[in-house]
Amino acid sequence: MARELRKIFNKSLMKKARALVLLSGGLDSILAARLLLKQKIKVEALVFKSCFFGSEQAEITAKKFGINLKIADFSQRHFEIVKNPRFGYGKNMNPCIDCHILMLGFAKEIMVKEGFDFIATGEVLGERPMSQNRQSLELIEKQSGLKGYLLRPLSAKLLEPTIAEQKGIIDRNNLLAIRGRSRKEQLALAKKWKIDWFPAPSGGCLLTDFHFSEKLRDLIKNAVKPDMDDINLLKIGRHFWDNGVQIIIGRNYQENLKLREAGRKSDVLLEMKEPAGPTALVRGYKGKVSEKSIQKAKELIRSYAPKVRGKKIILFDAFLPDC
Ligand code: SF4
Repeated sequence: MARELRKIFNKSLMKKARALVLLSGGLDSILAARLLLKQKIKVEALVFKSCFFGSEQAEITAKKFGINLKIADFSQRHFEIVKNPRFGYGKNMNPCIDCHILMLGFAKEIMVKEGFDFIATGEVLGERPMSQNRQSLELIEKQSGLKGYLLRPLSAKLLEPTIAEQKGIIDRNNLLAIRGRSRKEQLALAKKWKIDWFPAPSGGCLLTDFHFSEKLRDLIKNAVKPDMDDINLLKIGRHFWDNGVQIIIGRNYQENLKLREAGRKSDVLLEMKEPAGPTALVRGYKGKVSEKSIQKAKELIRSYAPKVRGKKIILFDAFLPDC
């Protein structure tokens, strides 16, 4: 593979260099792309999306820059590493090191196939404790098979020169030496370059969210083989477990409708008729839903339906959703 990469690189010396930038749409990746564009590098972008985060912001950014964007949905592979990360989790269920390795591995395949000269990311040394310390950056570069071909323009001057820098494809002097969690320098650059369409740095990946992570942990523990639909259901309603049976209570009319649509043949759906109230989807991962779990779902509905507190008669519709 090293010989193959070198062949691509040597060819690039004769033409305009091309970089594939991993573009999340956040400020760091925007600035990384901008730094390369300023050096007359031909930039194309790659964004990943999965059941845990979307690609919308990157799509907006790519449009503003007028750069070609490739969108890769890696939900299934992403979920596999979430269940069993080699390098562990961050604060919540976010396996950021494994995730970066996975993304960059994909990017490398595209680089080789389409003849890009190098990959660039918006990573900043020391910005994230788990995945952006020096050791992790080196580990990620090595494990993704991109040694020497991964440029981090925002912190490049603090890192080993990449092959593109050594060969003069890109001028190291015009790269940056940003370090740490303060985003002062990035914000100053954004102001200078009149970039104002980036989102707040809160992330957008559900795996970094405490509450979502709790729900996901329960799902992985209780469900035999959870699929993408099961994960998508974690995004709505209140979730409870009763001996391997999942009970989801809708929080509003929209969620009630979504639960109705999400039902499978083996699920039980409970809907209040009079007065109207929360819908419950009851899903048994280890066999048929028991009467006990249905009773528990009814109690939960009652506890979340203030209008019926104190009333004796509550009507439920328990049925198998049509699907
Ligand atoms: S925050 Fe989510 S998308 Fe980002 S690296 Fe971590 S796991 Fe991957």
